[in-house]
Amino acid sequence: MPRLLLFDIDGTLIDSHGSGGAAILDAAEEHFGIQREQLPPLQLAGATDPAIAMDIFELVKRQHTRDDVFAFLDRYLIHLQRRLHAFDFSGFTLPGVVELLEVLRTHTDAHLGLLTGNVRRGAEIKLTRHGVLHHFIDGGFGCDHHDRDQLGPVALKRMQDATGMSFDIADVIVIGDTPKDIRCAAAFGAKCLAVATGQYSSAELNALKPWRCVESFADVPAIVELLLRE
Ligand SMILES: [Mg+2]
Repeated sequence: MPRLLLFDIDGTLIDSHGSGGAAILDAAEEHFGIQREQLPPLQLAGATDPAIAMDIFELVKRQHTRDDVFAFLDRYLIHLQRRLHAFDFSGFTLPGVVELLEVLRTHTDAHLGLLTGNVRRGAEIKLTRHGVLHHFIDGGFGCDHHDRDQLGPVALKRMQDATGMSFDIADVIVIGDTPKDIRCAAAFGAKCLAVATGQYSSAELNALKPWRCVESFADVPAIVELLLRE
């Protein structure tokens, strides 16, 4: 049966070593004329880019329209691009990811998409920098809705349109590293493979009852078996 595999990005495929969060703070300093130290720690894990931006507008007590949020995110994207191409950039793809994507690509039953809180352009910048963007056909992105729970149906429809396939929801697997990924999968009836390579331990993720949970993708044959055979 064809499987639709929808991957999260940060903490699942890559660790940008704080560059995404730092670029958000660069944009906040520029956009609002504040110092990054004036903001409390932001809740970034699993959040969509627009939701993070809206939180900042609220923290600095500024009214905002949708256009204001996306103007802020345009600044963020400039800083993201700069930081990911800085000479001292130390981000990396997480263990097993490159090999896993290469192997999945050879399976005609596996269709790879994205389900991420990143705006589309941010996802492209991050995955291009890490050399893995070409594996993904399309997906659902933070620019589609600020609430991650709304993104599953968007990703499913885009992937059906792009592949010409009709996926049974039982064959859709969301792959991510946070409680928000598990909830987002449940919101449209998909399975969730949780991976403990982000901020959350497997114990914390397992407590939320994902379909399956693994420590990492380091054991590529076992992950392929899980994604395509179970
Ligand atoms: Mg993540």
